Amino acid sequence: MADENAVSEDLDSFRQRAREWLAANMSRVGPDGQPAGYSDASVARARILQGKLFEGGFAGLCFPREHGGQGLSPAHQRVFNEECAAYEMPAVLNICHLTILAPTLLDFGTEEQKQRYLPAILRGEELWIQFRSEPTGGSDLAGVITRATPDADGWLLSGSKIWSTGADVSDYALCLARTDWDAPKHRGLTMFVVKIHQPGITVERIKQVNGSMEFCQEFFDDVRIPPENVVGQVNDGWSVASRLLLHERNSIGGATSFASGPRRGRSSDGAQRDLVELAKGTGQADDQGVRQLVAEAHVLGAVQGHLLQRVGAGMGTGHFPGTAGAILKLYGATTGIRRSDIGLEIAGTAGVAWNEDRRMAGQYGQQYLSKQSGGLAGGSNEMQRNIISERVLGMPREFAADRDRPFGEVKHNRMPVRAVER
Ligand SMILES: Cc1cc2nc3c(=O)[nH]c(=O)nc-3n(C[C@H](O)[C@H](O)[C@H](O)COP(=O)(O)OP(=O)(O)OC[C@H]3O[C@@H](n4cnc5c(N)ncnc54)[C@H](O)[C@@H]3O)c2cc1C
Repeated sequence: MADENAVSEDLDSFRQRAREWLAANMSRVGPDGQPAGYSDASVARARILQGKLFEGGFAGLCFPREHGGQGLSPAHQRVFNEECAAYEMPAVLNICHLTILAPTLLDFGTEEQKQRYLPAILRGEELWIQFRSEPTGGSDLAGVITRATPDADGWLLSGSKIWSTGADVSDYALCLARTDWDAPKHRGLTMFVVKIHQPGITVERIKQVNGSMEFCQEFFDDVRIPPENVVGQVNDGWSVASRLLLHERNSIGGATSFASGPRRGRSSDGAQRDLVELAKGTGQADDQGVRQLVAEAHVLGAVQGHLLQRVGAGMGTGHFPGTAGAILKLYGATTGIRRSDIGLEIAGTAGVAWNEDRRMAGQYGQQYLSKQSGGLAGGSNEMQRNIISERVLGMPREFAADRDRPFGEVKHNRMPVRAVER
């Protein structure tokens, strides 16, 4: 958030300055909105756009000035979001680079780490992602079995991570690894800065059913990590990982102030307009059932907007704990699935096989294939429900037989053979 040394500029003059700069320096976007998704081309373009924002003094509005940001307030960020909505922005960098990794470094990095990495992040020169989930399961994050072993020059990392969005086109990752097998599972983890493209790391892209190649799996074969790359304290990586997840929930739920423009792709307003166009384009604008579906999607979007304002404001004033971002994330994930269903129902057969004239219907068909992703990314819906019950409502913690026992002694996952044999 805004630092104490912030140069305060009133919102009206900031709006005017932003409006003029955007008109002079950025391109307007068409009806299809911001480009979304990781690819070589989208990331290369995003690096250029982020560099332009930095040069213009509009990158990292809520990051401290001493770390390359502008030291402004979330209110300035909201103003800028309104002004930049019609312009091409580096949206692909918003999740995870700017709203998850950078804020976690800000919270837990040493002063040297912040000076070294944050300005390069805000300039779009070095892109960051997260090495968190493992092939044996992502929900049980405290059970990670990728290991970092101390040696004379720092640490040696071995194991495997998966579902790392954009790893092949990025530069650095925050990686959670087990450093003490005698400590209970939450107390033997450490978070490291890992340079992605270096000897010992193999990055493989994963092709999904919808054709997307955003996900990667990485294999670590005794990767050397210097001692200064520990983030937070050795064996206290759980604190860093918990904060990272908090930033991720806020980011996905829409409550972050660390990036400009849409979190990913189209806004819900844009999606809403699309459904009306889709109904018209498929000749169903007068169909009562279809009108009901469009109205339902509209109501879900409107409630989401109000929920965001209410919970976002509550977290800002301390009325709600930071973990309340789980409410926003859960709502977005569950209603996102319903909205995907509605889109495909209206698109009908054109959502399965389409031509250029019916491209919009095809988009709903493609979206349907990944409709579950919002309920997994950044922690599944079941995990959000646990967080809401235990850390927002204060209900008793779920029983865990392994909580206080040495991790090496409790039943835990094993790295799949393919990963350890490489
Ligand atoms: C779009 C997207 C982007 C992602 N990006 C990244 C990334 O950049 N980096 C990264 O490291 N990971 C990333 N992930 C992975 C994500 O963090 C995991 O998918 C998530 O944590 C769930 O882990 P899993 O897929 O292994 O499912 P599992 O943990 O195997 O869970 C499968 C199902 O079982 C349920 N379940 C598991 N345990 C319990 C329990 N104790 N109680 C009740 N239900 C339970 C889960 O809720 C889920 O429904 C991404 C995922 C998606 C979809």
